[in-house]
Amino acid sequence: MKIGNLGGRLVIVTTGGAVDVERASGGRFTAEPQAVYKRWTAFRQWATSADLSAAKPFDPARLRPPAPRPPQIFAIGLNYRQHAIESGLDLPSDPLVFTKFASCLTGAHDSIPVPAIGTADWEIELAVVIGVCARDVSADHAWEHVAGVAVGQDISERSIQLRGPAPQFSIGKSLSGFGPIGPWLVTPDELLDPDDLLMTCILDGEEVQKASTRDMIFPVPELIARLSAMLPLLPGDLLFTGTPAGIGSGMNPPRFLTPGQTLTSRIEGIGELRNPIVAADPA
Ligand code: ZN
Repeated sequence: MKIGNLGGRLVIVTTGGAVDVERASGGRFTAEPQAVYKRWTAFRQWATSADLSAAKPFDPARLRPPAPRPPQIFAIGLNYRQHAIESGLDLPSDPLVFTKFASCLTGAHDSIPVPAIGTADWEIELAVVIGVCARDVSADHAWEHVAGVAVGQDISERSIQLRGPAPQFSIGKSLSGFGPIGPWLVTPDELLDPDDLLMTCILDGEEVQKASTRDMIFPVPELIARLSAMLPLLPGDLLFTGTPAGIGSGMNPPRFLTPGQTLTSRIEGIGELRNPIVAADPA
């Protein structure tokens, strides 16, 4: 199943288009996309037998983030070997965790404003949304706690991220519009192998990142096991699971996002984001 946030309302996405969940369920489930994760098991049960014949075509530009206000957002650094090497850093023995603040989340076709400082970078990532509270969950059972996966971009202003005596990842990665996720959320059962998804990041038609999620140092089940051993992962929480090699700041010479470009981010079995890069208003 695919669920989406269409103009602020929860929808199920089918081959015929979108079905409004509040209307199709006679009000049993509300239109608020973030609310569904608190009732995830009941929603899945209802959806298996729901009448989805009212599906209507929709404009993809109206898609908003499928989890717009997660209680917690976790982002993982250095989770692919080749990316750690291009960053000149040692492979981590434990996941490197930071956050992206929720106000940076944006839709699959929304513009990404980059500040004039000129060092905003791309990072395609698999985004994971929790559906069932996870506390001390083993890797074997981790996927049972996942509502679904989406394509994500962990846009990063490198000058801000690395400014000061100690790097401050979270703020440099949380500027307005720096967290596109979407185009919708795909439940893990729809994927042939949720631990082996081909991801491609394309800048103005040029492929800059290409990898499979099976190359993660800490795969999704391992991340959930390790994080849930320390704190609960709550329904609706969002995980950015790390980016593979091919970021702009790892190139020689370094390259960064420029207004006028289009950033396309694609993950097999899920779909794609197409975000225009624009100039941020001067502060
Ligand atoms: Zn990242």
